[in-house]
Amino acid sequence: MINFHSIDKEFDKKHIWHPYTSMLNPLPSYGVTHTNENKIYLDTGEELIDGMASWWSAIHGYNHPRLVSAIQSQASTMSHIMFGGITHAPAVELCKKLINITPKSLDRVFLADSGSVSVEVAIKMALQYWISKGQTSKTKLMTAQKGYHGDTFAAMSVCDPINSMHSMYQGFLPEHIFVSAPKAKFDEQCTDTELQLLEQAFVKHHHDVAAFIIEPIVQNAGGMNFYSPSYLAKLRQLCNKYDVLLILDEIATGFGRTGKMFACEHANIEPDIMCIGKALTGGTMTLSATLTNQKVAVGLSEGEAGVLMHGPTFMGNPLACAVANASINLLFENNWQAQVERVNLAMSALKRCESLSSVVNVRTLGAIGVVEIDKVVNVAKIQKFFIKKGVWIRPFGKLIYIMPPYVSSSADIRELANAIYDAINEQQY
Ligand SMILES: *Cc1c(COP(=O)(O)O)cnc(C)c1O
Repeated sequence: MINFHSIDKEFDKKHIWHPYTSMLNPLPSYGVTHTNENKIYLDTGEELIDGMASWWSAIHGYNHPRLVSAIQSQASTMSHIMFGGITHAPAVELCKKLINITPKSLDRVFLADSGSVSVEVAIKMALQYWISKGQTSKTKLMTAQKGYHGDTFAAMSVCDPINSMHSMYQGFLPEHIFVSAPKAKFDEQCTDTELQLLEQAFVKHHHDVAAFIIEPIVQNAGGMNFYSPSYLAKLRQLCNKYDVLLILDEIATGFGRTGKMFACEHANIEPDIMCIGKALTGGTMTLSATLTNQKVAVGLSEGEAGVLMHGPTFMGNPLACAVANASINLLFENNWQAQVERVNLAMSALKRCESLSSVVNVRTLGAIGVVEIDKVVNVAKIQKFFIKKGVWIRPFGKLIYIMPPYVSSSADIRELANAIYDAINEQQY
């Protein structure tokens, strides 16, 4: 039964860490009692239209009956079993599906438990591949500024150095090679200068570089940068030419969010290694995967390194795999492309914000909408206003952005856009 009693927020504030906030002076946390479709219900009685899909994950909205029943029936059969020396139908079915919907050459799957861990595994695969080939100098990664790949140490070492405070962890973080963030926008072509600079970095560093890692098309937590497919296409060429593996982090962009099933399809390229997570289970449970091709999988196993030394306790968790299977089935049954196009169309309501003097830029791609303003948002203040307006939107930095569940009605998306317009117009940030 739903518990409508108010939640002990004093205890929460004193004892529990929330993401990216201080223990001494935390941002407020709102008490949520339950969710349904694209709605979030607070213990203070408000019903909120969700603009965040719980950080890219709840693509079908909340409490979808098909996802709920997948979890329930799997729970009554087998919630978990170790994956060492054992296999099971939910995992096999999921890996078949993943091989089917991801780029053709990716046919080997490692199941992990969160996005960050899938990035750790991708990095291990790349390093081990070159060790197996006897190329012991290839121990570095190359990446672009403004990236975000997770909060564990290896993942953090390839996040934007300033955003993720590399200087604080000096001595703990390996130092990798950073190139400029992609400049050309999604609907532009890269200039020759931009591509030449990128190639110069390969010329200079490729002897030391195992892999280039980047989020394809949308650099999300590092600035919601929608960049040119021509950048990715060039990156693929350069990786081939200079013997560097390409890791694409599709954790945020995967499962239709950018208007393609995977964002690399905008550039018609295939990575050597790909990370997926977030929407994989439709926002119900934590699960991620690292996929790779035959070249890397066989290459890393052939050499002296042999086995891949990674095996999380909850690897291949049957509950998570079962609900991931149901979520992928739903994507196709719901005709995700039409859903995302409709969300995109409704988000054109954000364009009205362009008339406000403090708005720097409004951009949308697939089911992602971004309003960039001219100063860092006061999150506590703007959220209070948003709650009053009946929406759940959580900005960061100078970015007020939405990536609603694909099932959101056009009217609800216009409500989200109106709330953003009003917040800026009434200077509630
Ligand atoms: C969220 C995210 C991660 C980290 O995933 P977690 O599940 O939070 O560990 C990594 N890369 C990208 C692009 C992400 O958006």
